[in-house]
Amino acid sequence: MNYPNSINSKLPNVGTTIFTVMSKLATDNNAINLSQGFPDFSCNEELIGLVNKHMLKGNNQYAPMAGLMSLREIIAEKTEDLYSAKYDPETEITITAGGTQAIFTAISAMIREGDEVIIFEPAYDCYKPAVELNGGKTIYLQLKAPHYAIDWEEVKKVINYRTKMIIINTPHNPTGSIMTAADMAKLEKLTKGTDIVIVSDEVYEHIIFDGYEHQSVARFPKLAERSFIISSFGKTYHATGWKIGYCVAPKKLMAEFRKVHQFIVFCVNTPIQYALAEFLKNKKNYLGLGNFYQKKRDYFNKMIKNSNFKLEPASGTYFQLLNYSEISKEKDSNFAIRLTKEFGIASIPVSMFYHHSIDNKMLRFCFAKKEETLEKAAEILNKI
Ligand code: GLN
Repeated sequence: MNYPNSINSKLPNVGTTIFTVMSKLATDNNAINLSQGFPDFSCNEELIGLVNKHMLKGNNQYAPMAGLMSLREIIAEKTEDLYSAKYDPETEITITAGGTQAIFTAISAMIREGDEVIIFEPAYDCYKPAVELNGGKTIYLQLKAPHYAIDWEEVKKVINYRTKMIIINTPHNPTGSIMTAADMAKLEKLTKGTDIVIVSDEVYEHIIFDGYEHQSVARFPKLAERSFIISSFGKTYHATGWKIGYCVAPKKLMAEFRKVHQFIVFCVNTPIQYALAEFLKNKKNYLGLGNFYQKKRDYFNKMIKNSNFKLEPASGTYFQLLNYSEISKEKDSNFAIRLTKEFGIASIPVSMFYHHSIDNKMLRFCFAKKEETLEKAAEILNKI
């Protein structure tokens, strides 16, 4: 079918996300898919049972716009337990259709034509289009290998009266780096006395390794008062396909968030909210996640440590960056395609997380996989 007039795209340089592209390529080539981030094992059966129970019980109609109260209450409890921060479930917590929707909603609620938003590259791919669809301008700063830390002096230099938002992400996708309490102190100092709003993407909050503690902005009251914090049940409960997460923010920010949320999704599916409200009562279900994934990271890394790929250090998320500069000079996107087609293993080229496609010869591999999948993957990687 041909639309009669030419379309003036609002996102002229945006194609289909790399996660969709690489997952399809993996399927088409019957390759092991370590590209898009999702577990290849099942989520907890008890949780599935709870969803089923609530569906059969008849909890199948619209939930309240902001989410089920019992779920918001348990999130408030969890946030207070872990980060000593009090959020009112009535006015300061909203259940969303996953992290991406929450991020889009927060950006749409705050960003106007000409506002500047600072993001750090490599950056997760949904930030920039959300800013630009709302007329904002993305200001890019670079995280530097191997620790991918933020250079706060650079941040200081770019902040000006147009700066409306800073988006941070810890633990960080795709690098696995984490922000420290000292980072948070610097962010607090730089934003003091400004109207800058922070979007803190913390969807991997429970996937943190080597004894580190997640530094949520919620722990820092002066930051928390200007922040939207985003979390994801998909990452925490091995159910990325359920598309459910949440946002916490102080009342005034959350009121604006909800004005937009109600017209994007209105509300999120009901039976899963009932199930999660029950399941979250058992803290073990999320507190053990760091150890669970640390074992997978270590298992995977140990098997490939003598390969020709170089492992980058990672302290969180379920992603591992591998540098292939000793193997090939090919562009990372071409190399990732070739690995999928010729060797049967799919990954994500890290250049896709840069607006100028910076190619550091780096691929991202997801290790949220069964041992046997990781073994097969390692066997292939060791041959390359
Ligand atoms: N967050 C997932 C990743 O980084 C992708 C989610 C998606 O495909 N939109 O791989």
